[in-house]
Amino acid sequence: MGLSERARALVRPEVADLEPYDPGFVECRVNLSANESTWPRPPALERAVREALAATPLNRYPDPMANGLRDALAAWHGVDRSQVVVGNGGDELIFDLLLAFGGAGRTVLDMPPTFSVYDIYGRLVGSTVVAVPRDPETFEPAWDEVLAAARTADVAVLTTPNNPTGNTVAPDRVEALCEACPGVVLVDEAYGEFAPSMGSAAALLDRHPNLCVLHTLSKAFAMAGARVGYILASPELVDVFAAVRQPYTVNVLSQAAATAVVEGRDLALAAVADVVAERTRLTGGLRALGLRVWDSEANFVLVRVPDAHAVRQRLARDFSILVRDLSFAPGLRDCLRVTVGTPEEDDAVLDALRRIL
Ligand code: PMP
Repeated sequence: MGLSERARALVRPEVADLEPYDPGFVECRVNLSANESTWPRPPALERAVREALAATPLNRYPDPMANGLRDALAAWHGVDRSQVVVGNGGDELIFDLLLAFGGAGRTVLDMPPTFSVYDIYGRLVGSTVVAVPRDPETFEPAWDEVLAAARTADVAVLTTPNNPTGNTVAPDRVEALCEACPGVVLVDEAYGEFAPSMGSAAALLDRHPNLCVLHTLSKAFAMAGARVGYILASPELVDVFAAVRQPYTVNVLSQAAATAVVEGRDLALAAVADVVAERTRLTGGLRALGLRVWDSEANFVLVRVPDAHAVRQRLARDFSILVRDLSFAPGLRDCLRVTVGTPEEDDAVLDALRRIL
């Protein structure tokens, strides 16, 4: 659809080719399109969140650095507060990172198919985005090419588990990337909690001062509406974020709710095992329909169907089920991404697909 002629004439060239973002169909009864958690929060944790919200006054601006939440995150990850920066969702921190370390005349290294925001924000801030495509079958990054391109990159972005393909990379590859790249390496672990055997790149922070590890409370912690993400990095890099970020982006309610959830993380993380088991069941159910499904270590699966656009439309219109059509992305012809829902939601998807296909 794109922007109007008149709007295109008014904006910077980097903005002219962007699309207004409106996914549509959000009224669907079953929404498995955005990798949120649709599982009920453990009641004790829900109570803690409600109490924290009720005790939060709204007349004051938020603490710009969200120090209460930073302390809770630092205690959890065994790092110092100076190694944590909190943002209004991981998206904002990705934007801030590209704004500070990318920009005109600078290069951002990306490994598609992956989270499209790196490419969109990278171009928006004026960077040259160098895309090194992943293997079309396994989605493993093309390491020889990646490491060669990293040598001249100002920013390199690696997502593990990758969205939308669900695969992880070995820790020694992350380390090789940090060594090859003279710029900043962003390892996006938004889905890390669903891949417990992966091991976080945060273990490399002491050795690699150019490393940023991104996490979010939107997925495993079921807080997508509160918009809270965070980066673990060296204090020097955290200072850069503290300099470029808008001071009040993480509002008081989100800071209070997120602190309660991080302090009650054992309850939240206990539910992750259920999502992982359900992921196995959903994968098996889709394969039983004769579909190609890639093994996933995240809270979604990538599946190839005969006509992704038509299948997504029918799921939404006839069954009130929303999934993500990724056909627009190079290398993802006829692929849909389905978030792992509750068993009831996943049964609804499997039943609907059985009728459509
Ligand atoms: N990274 C990846 C790979 C994601 O898929 C997402 C959410 N879709 C994010 C970061 C950002 O999540 P949020 O802004 O909700 O924290």
